Amino acid sequence: MPEFSLDLNEEQRDLRDWVHGFAGDVVRPAAAEWDTREETPWPIIQEAAKIGLYGFEFLANCWADPSGLSLCLANEELFWGDAGIGMAIFGTSLAVAAIYASGTPDQMLEWVPQCFGDAADPKVAAFCTTEPEAGSDVGSMKTRARYDEATDEWVLNGQKAYATNGGIADVHVVTASVDPELGSRGQAAFVVPPGTPGLNGSKKLKKLGLRASHTADVFLDDVRVPGRCLLGGKDVLDARLAKAREGRKAQGQAAMRTFELSRPAVGAQALGVARAAYEYALDYAKSRVQFGRPIIENQAIAFALADMKMEIDAARLLVWRAAWMGRNNRPFEAGEGSMSKLKAGEVAVAVTEKAVQILGGAGFLREHPVERWYRDAKIYTIFEGTSEIQRLVVSRAISGIYVR
Ligand SMILES: Cc1cc2nc3c(=O)[nH]c(=O)nc-3n(C[C@H](O)[C@H](O)[C@H](O)COP(=O)(O)OP(=O)(O)OC[C@H]3O[C@@H](n4cnc5c(N)ncnc54)[C@H](O)[C@@H]3O)c2cc1C
Repeated sequence: MPEFSLDLNEEQRDLRDWVHGFAGDVVRPAAAEWDTREETPWPIIQEAAKIGLYGFEFLANCWADPSGLSLCLANEELFWGDAGIGMAIFGTSLAVAAIYASGTPDQMLEWVPQCFGDAADPKVAAFCTTEPEAGSDVGSMKTRARYDEATDEWVLNGQKAYATNGGIADVHVVTASVDPELGSRGQAAFVVPPGTPGLNGSKKLKKLGLRASHTADVFLDDVRVPGRCLLGGKDVLDARLAKAREGRKAQGQAAMRTFELSRPAVGAQALGVARAAYEYALDYAKSRVQFGRPIIENQAIAFALADMKMEIDAARLLVWRAAWMGRNNRPFEAGEGSMSKLKAGEVAVAVTEKAVQILGGAGFLREHPVERWYRDAKIYTIFEGTSEIQRLVVSRAISGIYVR
């Protein structure tokens, strides 16, 4: 049994510093421009692909870290650079994670490389699950998947909402209901290959933050995909549906576990945004002089900064704990995955708001990046499960009561 330690090992430190370098040299200087343009920053995705930061090998190396921390470290650093560009680069990993979680080894080999393309011609992927009438309430999904036995094809019909990279992706991973009576246990995930007729994206949605990242609705109109596009395969699905019809709960819990596992990485993104704002505000408070002294000499400002630092560090400990637990198959008995994302998201909102306050009028201007960080931070109490939904998960886990 190794001694308890929170020290990062050499590999983790190298990874963190390498991603930080890219975030500082390439991402941050470009952040304001892509935020204003509200376009996918393809040249930066390509840069990331060239240095090996965008691609399956990178993700697989992160996942291989037995402590679970590498993906969190990479996310925190990249999103410290910029959350919009960060999401343009890491949005693909949502689809890849879905293929990895539910796909067979053959499906991984076939689809994952297509999610990324290559450095000469990078591609992005989309994970489409939210619908206009099914956001937090994933079980009420209306998109249907029907199996056409004659052609061994699945036929998808429905509408997805707010999909990151929706419509511009090469590979779309789409969740759909196969048996609506079973709610979320009657759902499955399908790969929609590049260029499949019937899948169309809306134009890019205009957003408060994360503006470099493409978000769109996706329409599925008699989309036919080969039988092999059902992630996990038909035998596994049939067995799962049979179990669910018998009323056994195993699969519902498994789906929840997948979410719990991805949440620490999203929490780490929020930490990156919070840390950027805290560092900027700290520097500003040391140099801005009012009443003949730097504003940091006032307790009101210094204590605010102390609280910001403390909250960021507290959130990081929750994020690291959940990442370690997930990687080491520890049961999330108190919804620790949700807890980590909940705390980090709320800290990002609070810390960026404080940073704007510490900059005063300057904080309200686009000249300083805290204005953008303040807008970007808000997404972290909304996507990958809103703060309210995280509290539901935690309260149900700790009480055993079906809290509503
Ligand atoms: C920029 C962006 C990117 C996104 N990317 C993707 C993506 O790639 N793929 C994807 O599938 N989705 C994506 N989403 C969708 C996102 O996950 C959903 O917006 C989110 O899950 C919330 O769903 P909703 O918007 O329908 O809100 P609703 O579910 O309508 O919630 C509205 C409000 O009601 C509250 N609420 C709902 N139910 C309860 C309850 N039982 N108890 C207490 N409060 C409740 C919510 O917390 C929220 O405050 C993205 C969204 C955005 C904005």
